[in-house]
Amino acid sequence: MDFFNKVSNTISSKGKDVTKRAKEIAEIAKLTGQIAEKEETVKGAYIELGKYVYESQKEDAPEEVAEKFAAIDAAVEEIEQLKREVRKLKGKQECPDCGKEVSYSAAFCSYCGAKLPEPQPEEVVDEGEVTEVTEEPAEAAESAEPVEAAAQQAESVEEPKTEEI
Ligand SMILES: [Zn+2]
Repeated sequence: MDFFNKVSNTISSKGKDVTKRAKEIAEIAKLTGQIAEKEETVKGAYIELGKYVYESQKEDAPEEVAEKFAAIDAAVEEIEQLKREVRKLKGKQECPDCGKEVSYSAAFCSYCGAKLPEPQPEEVVDEGEVTEVTEEPAEAAESAEPVEAAAQQAESVEEPKTEEI
């Protein structure tokens, strides 16, 4: 490195540090972006792979993944239920034959002509009155009771013992 360069380096060293740092930061951002992009690719491939495994083996789930399969089945079922609720609120229903969204009050599918189930007026929830939702908490309460009862029994079993001793 010649004299001129040395001098100019010294003079602008601070400025160069800042420029260097800025370049590094830009480079880091660029690389981080590339990493995120590749990670998305991997994630996407994993999802595709998982879907493939699920689709091809759901009838006979391997033991190691049976739990995950069951979780997917349960979530898919819940999603369907939630979609039905949304559709109902929008005054729509899904054609049982072609799966298209059609009017809730229609007697026949406007796409495939299939007969649609009769609208069920008892399922219509009055404003401010929640009839259906009460079902689930009631079940939950029932299932919680035996646990409490068992706990109480356990306590009451211990009590007489201490009295005897
Ligand atoms: Zn249809």
